[in-house]
Amino acid sequence: MAIDPAQPYDDQNIFAKILRGEIPCNKAYEDEWSLAFHDIAPQAPQHILVIPKGSYVSWDDFSQRAGADEIAGFVRAVGKVARDNGLVQPGYRLLANVGKDAGQEVPHLHVHLFGGKPLGRMIAA
Ligand code: 5GP
Repeated sequence: MAIDPAQPYDDQNIFAKILRGEIPCNKAYEDEWSLAFHDIAPQAPQHILVIPKGSYVSWDDFSQRAGADEIAGFVRAVGKVARDNGLVQPGYRLLANVGKDAGQEVPHLHVHLFGGKPLGRMIAA
């Protein structure tokens, strides 16, 4: 079910539990600001999620409240994960769902990285 992006941060969401190590993930990268792991239900040959370590519901929340260091660290992590996984040359797609119309399901900001094949239309017909 899609989440309300204006809701307060819920520290029982699944990605908060992954960040605390309470449930496992297939980790792709970690640094001071970010964690990246493979999506449990991949929608492309490569489908990696990158999340900030801070408690942000969505891109909307992050872009308003995060500090400059957090934003820079997160953006750099997204780029590094793409490079480290060989996605730059063939190409890849970034996606961040925000709220109901986008179908955001997990109320912790995550950027999807898709790659490994031609990705087709940007938005389904
Ligand atoms: P959203 O629709 O919120 O943008 O995307 C949520 C994504 O999280 C989905 O692609 C879904 O497959 C993924 N996901 C949900 N629960 C888990 C989990 O426990 N582990 C991992 N690795 N991915 C998850």
